[in-house]
Amino acid sequence: MRNYDVAIIGAGVTGAAIARQLSRYRLSIALIDGAEDVAMGASRANSAILHAGYDTPAGTLMAKLNVRGNELMTQWCGELDVPIRRVGTLVAAFNAEEKLELRWLYERGIQNGVPGLELLTGEEARAMEPMLSPDVVAALHAKTGGITCPYELTVACAENARRNGAEWLLGRHVKWIVPEPNNLVIRAGDECIRARRVINCAGVYADDVARMIDDDSFVIRPRKGEYMLLDRTEAKPSKVIFHTPTKMGKGVLVAPTVDGNAFVGPTAVNVSDKEDTAVDAHFVELLSMLSKKSVPTLNLRGTIRAFAGLRAQPSTGDFIIRPSEADARMIHAAGICSPGLTSAPAIAEMVEELVRSSGLELVPKDDYDPTRRAIPAFRHMTDDERWAAIAENPLYARAVCRCETVTEAEVVEAVRRGARTVDGVKRRVRAGMGRCQGGFCTPKVMEILSRETGVPMENLTKFGGSSRMVAGKTRGEG
Ligand SMILES: Cc1cc2nc3c(=O)[nH]c(=O)nc-3n(C[C@H](O)[C@H](O)[C@H](O)COP(=O)(O)OP(=O)(O)OC[C@H]3O[C@@H](n4cnc5c(N)ncnc54)[C@H](O)[C@@H]3O)c2cc1C
Repeated sequence: MRNYDVAIIGAGVTGAAIARQLSRYRLSIALIDGAEDVAMGASRANSAILHAGYDTPAGTLMAKLNVRGNELMTQWCGELDVPIRRVGTLVAAFNAEEKLELRWLYERGIQNGVPGLELLTGEEARAMEPMLSPDVVAALHAKTGGITCPYELTVACAENARRNGAEWLLGRHVKWIVPEPNNLVIRAGDECIRARRVINCAGVYADDVARMIDDDSFVIRPRKGEYMLLDRTEAKPSKVIFHTPTKMGKGVLVAPTVDGNAFVGPTAVNVSDKEDTAVDAHFVELLSMLSKKSVPTLNLRGTIRAFAGLRAQPSTGDFIIRPSEADARMIHAAGICSPGLTSAPAIAEMVEELVRSSGLELVPKDDYDPTRRAIPAFRHMTDDERWAAIAENPLYARAVCRCETVTEAEVVEAVRRGARTVDGVKRRVRAGMGRCQGGFCTPKVMEILSRETGVPMENLTKFGGSSRMVAGKTRGEG
């Protein structure tokens, strides 16, 4: 049985950020996930917005951690080589009632300590964002609002934690937890591990993990959000544009991505199945109507993909970040719904304090390295840089994904860093993210994955589990 000081259950952005934060200390850390890769839950499918923090109720943990997380994000993304753009966010009002709502959001933002908020007239907002509808009568502008890449941030945190000694235990679903005098014993996949502290970052399953130690103090309900992603060639706003919030959330937005696409969404639908990320045709009409209301010239015919993510809505109405009342050796980072992505660095800081006050000694490492470098992307290189890259590694001369200009060298590096599925490669280097959505590059990616990992083609999966992509061979061996 392996022994760890800290076992983190859930390798989404919350767990990965906590692993990174704790990896600066002399601790043995396991980052556990049932999925075969990191960032397979909500952290892979969300709006990617760095929220400023004006719409979270004052006095809540969400409000505090949102503002602090937003502030920390520049440093984290800089150290981790993750894209971040402070494009600013606009909440658009279309009538007098919504204009009043903006005033209320503004006041709340001030209470929450959000810097750089301003109320604009419709004309002022359109001068800032020309794609905004002529029907917008006023807007709330948040300068600290921005965008990032959620799965890249998660991968980067997990890679940096691993660089500093944390171990990834993926493909190991946690089934039960049993207390011992000095540890908790965790059944993770086919093995048992011992840990002095367990951090529960299991997303929509965090209540199930809590119940493993007889803690039924909260319930997590999944709330689906569906999106449409547009081709990079379509015109996009430069800012994130929201409607005024509803009781179901922050409302539908139109936004640019850090990779140059536009997208619209999310819907907000309570569902009962914690695996239900299916997209339903009905939502297209709703998203079309709402997105066109704020950006009438948006061309939704340029949609290349629809996808959905599940928010982990807590029964308490706030993030649940505290030791369990059933066994204080388990610390919950649960109910991390939106703005959980923005808050991740601040959640990690808070959990560090909880681990410290739980009695675990946190001794800083002398050789802690806060930096991580992204995989060099051929598409971002100048011609000179491309020639130099090819001279050093000829695999840079072999194109794999034509839509996103991804080379074999990048795919090989993604596999070297831990990608084991077609989607794992896609999220790390963008092969299959473009207009054809993997129509050309998927077989090539599978060939490289099979060659580099030794896993036969027919055993490769799209995203793990039973998502196999080929049924078998049609001809003999070879
Ligand atoms: C539609 C939508 C839009 C959003 N938009 C934004 C936004 O714009 N800005 C923002 O700040 N936030 C946003 N969020 C919120 C943000 O995405 C989440 O707060 C964040 O991703 C949560 O990360 P997490 O690590 O807590 O959970 P997850 O990413 O869901 O990770 C939980 C992990 O736990 C693992 N797990 C669960 N049970 C077990 C088990 N028994 N054993 C092993 N592993 C287990 C899962 O496999 C999963 O990988 C949005 C969320 C959604 C769904």
